[in-house]
Amino acid sequence: VASARILHDGLVIASHGRHCLVETPAGERLICHPRGKKSQAVVGDRVRWQASEDEGTIEEVVPRRNLFYRQDEIRTKSFAANLDHVLILIAAEPEFSEHQLARALIAAEAERITPIIALNKSDLAEPFERAWNKLAPYRRMHHGVLPLSLKASGEADYASLMKLLAGKSTLVLGPSGAGKSTLINLLVPGATALTGEISQALNSGKHTTTSTTWYWVDEARTTSLIDSPGFQEFGLNHIAPMQLAGLMPDIAAHANDCKFYNCTHLHEPGCGVIANVGAPGKPGPISATRYRIYGELFAELSQSRY
Ligand code: GDP
Ligand code: ZN
Repeated sequence: VASARILHDGLVIASHGRHCLVETPAGERLICHPRGKKSQAVVGDRVRWQASEDEGTIEEVVPRRNLFYRQDEIRTKSFAANLDHVLILIAAEPEFSEHQLARALIAAEAERITPIIALNKSDLAEPFERAWNKLAPYRRMHHGVLPLSLKASGEADYASLMKLLAGKSTLVLGPSGAGKSTLINLLVPGATALTGEISQALNSGKHTTTSTTWYWVDEARTTSLIDSPGFQEFGLNHIAPMQLAGLMPDIAAHANDCKFYNCTHLHEPGCGVIANVGAPGKPGPISATRYRIYGELFAELSQSRY
């Protein structure tokens, strides 16, 4: 006689190795392990789990809307799923890498999520102006760039941010020093305590280096922030080189004007992209830096195919 298998709903709010911290609809949290390869879950996954001893076993992962990857020297790994927004938080200081910004934007585009770029520390007048100018190509893309100061936090900044985030699950990314902890602590009361609790639960007391964590912003649990370290190592290996132009809106806008259907936009005669790249002193519709980044990423993705 088959034993009754009662499956419960849950949301993965943190993970470490093969352990997941799962939250039930009632708001309780328990540690779960995947049953097998097919039930490997990441933060943001909706899962069906079964009680086993004092912990749980994940039997199914509900089909995902999207999935984000990160890569280290060895491999590409998924780390978050089912997101509505990606908020890329950069700041007037320290200076951000445009290459890394481009990678994060492409990763979002590849999962059909419109990224939001926020430029923090607008209170630092001079560095802010420099960063704002550097972001000119990005201000013409997507939703533009949201200027804000988390520290000198004006009510207006806070309100416009909350309006964007309300009712959505938002992955927050950014280089260290941009203000990610400040943002999370501002919007999530008790975030620090929760981080400690999670790291204890998942790693039996040892303090782990930060990993991806899901935080609820409101008590009704409709708005969430997903904090994930690592802006540098965005995994793009699952993207084919010929897909790349389509994931960079400023380049995509001219990719239909090319003479050849399968133009790589790297060297072909009659290429609509190359024709629109700006030069020093002549800012074209496509910035020279953006075009250089396109070339670098095209080469990287071509190599990773082997
Ligand atoms: P994280 O590394 O991204 O988590 O960055 P933190 O939140 O720790 O912030 C880095 C530093 O920037 C801290 O010293 C913050 O106090 C400071 N900071 C955060 N927001 C602002 C801001 O709007 N203006 C200024 N001037 N400093 C800020
Ligand atoms: Zn072309």
